[in-house]
Amino acid sequence: MPALHELQFRNSFARLPETFFARVRPTPMPAPYLVAGSRAACELIGLDPAELQQEATHACFIGDRLLPGMEPVAALYAGHQFGHYVPQLGDGRAILLGEVAHPDSGHWELQLKGAGLTPFSRDGDGRAVLRSSIREFLCSEAMAGLGIPTTRALCLLGSDEEVYRERIETGAVLVRMAPSFIRFGSFEVFFYRDRHAELRQLADYVIAHDYPELAELEHPYLALLEEVIRRTARLVAQWQLVGFAHGVLNTDNMSMLGLTLDYGPYGFLDRYDPGFVCNHSDHHGRYAFERQPSIGLWNLSCLAQAMLPLLDQENGEAAAEMAQQALRLYEPELVQTWSQGMRAKLGLQAARDSDKDLVAGLLDCMHRQQADYTLTFRHLAQLRQDEPGGDAPVRDLFTDRAAFDAWARDYRMRLAAEQSSDADRARRMRAVNPRYVLRNYLAQQAIERAGNRDFSEVERLLRVMSAPYEEHPQDDDLAALPPDWAEQISVSCSS
Ligand code: AMP
Ligand code: MG
Repeated sequence: MPALHELQFRNSFARLPETFFARVRPTPMPAPYLVAGSRAACELIGLDPAELQQEATHACFIGDRLLPGMEPVAALYAGHQFGHYVPQLGDGRAILLGEVAHPDSGHWELQLKGAGLTPFSRDGDGRAVLRSSIREFLCSEAMAGLGIPTTRALCLLGSDEEVYRERIETGAVLVRMAPSFIRFGSFEVFFYRDRHAELRQLADYVIAHDYPELAELEHPYLALLEEVIRRTARLVAQWQLVGFAHGVLNTDNMSMLGLTLDYGPYGFLDRYDPGFVCNHSDHHGRYAFERQPSIGLWNLSCLAQAMLPLLDQENGEAAAEMAQQALRLYEPELVQTWSQGMRAKLGLQAARDSDKDLVAGLLDCMHRQQADYTLTFRHLAQLRQDEPGGDAPVRDLFTDRAAFDAWARDYRMRLAAEQSSDADRARRMRAVNPRYVLRNYLAQQAIERAGNRDFSEVERLLRVMSAPYEEHPQDDDLAALPPDWAEQISVSCSS
């Protein structure tokens, strides 16, 4: 496997005119040390994982050393934050080095998050703290393990450099990877500045770089918008299926590739509560779990608005009509992905009209009985059709067992109607219902240990969360219900 300096870097984003970004020099953190690295991410770019241990690699990833082809830039973007347009954001603490192409996995941009000030830092310090960087590192790889589109995390470096948040913390640099980090807000900034030529250049770049198959179509810009709409719909449906709340669904955190992007105060559901708000700074619950589907559409309409000049330059009404039409793709795509996904989670094979009620009945029961989202589905795999006693593990998750029994009667009838075999169904269900998710309290435990330079828990979580559908008997404490203190953990935008 090649060493880091043997990889071929280039920065195609930096070939765009300088209105799209600022050239920057990273500000290296002193005395970096490796907190964690992802073998799976190394594989994507064909990098020897042993390289992550090398000081020369650390020097590159804190921005102290550039390899040929690396051109550090910070991208300009804007965005709607909590519903309000903010005319200039941009990479305030992320620095794009360049991209590596791999024959099997395509191209991957490498970005340093926390590598120092950029012209877009506003009041920030350009740094990321170890705490939130561990959360992003782990969740990026956990989402990939779950099979949900996401930016990736190659490695995480820490330093003793002090960083000031609500209290004094230490800094870290997360090396993120994605085919592209372009956001909805990357388009919005040029729309609101009336810079239509740049808007077009950006769309052309995104199509050439990440959607080449659209270039030949009659209307590539409309096709791009439609594809982003469909991908976003599927992404949000997958979040809902696995019980993931992003926490800060501003349009600057929405990927043009339909990836989960910018992990901050995210959270996985413990007990099922559709109104779950993971971000303690989100006082109105704008980004509550159950609102994610409608927020996804709201964000897409911001993107569509920004793309109007590309849809029809002369005729504004025609452009608006095209955008409206495109946005109508969202709901059916989301509903279809979610319904199919729910059917799979319940181990159902054929689709029936009554499935909707069956699913709603279970969710309602879980909500009332405060049942754990992840474990309910996982344990449901063990339910036997002929033997009501066999449902103990799942039944025990419900405070009112009779309520669960009532639902389980309908479920058994439904299974019998399609002549479902228990063993087969259990196997199918385990392949789609994770046993392990990155619950807040688990990340918190790893963060606390990492504060004492013990990274074993980060490593353990990475290993287990990368294969969350498999059983890990040695690490099965990670599948436990959260302890009482988990409720007290507070995560905010501060990172
Ligand atoms: P976020 O909500 O973390 O995605 O960040 C929103 C905006 O604030 C982005 O433009 C970030 O680059 C910027 N930002 C957040 N934290 C910092 C920081 N510590 N230093 C500089 N910019 C920051
Ligand atoms: Mg962001």
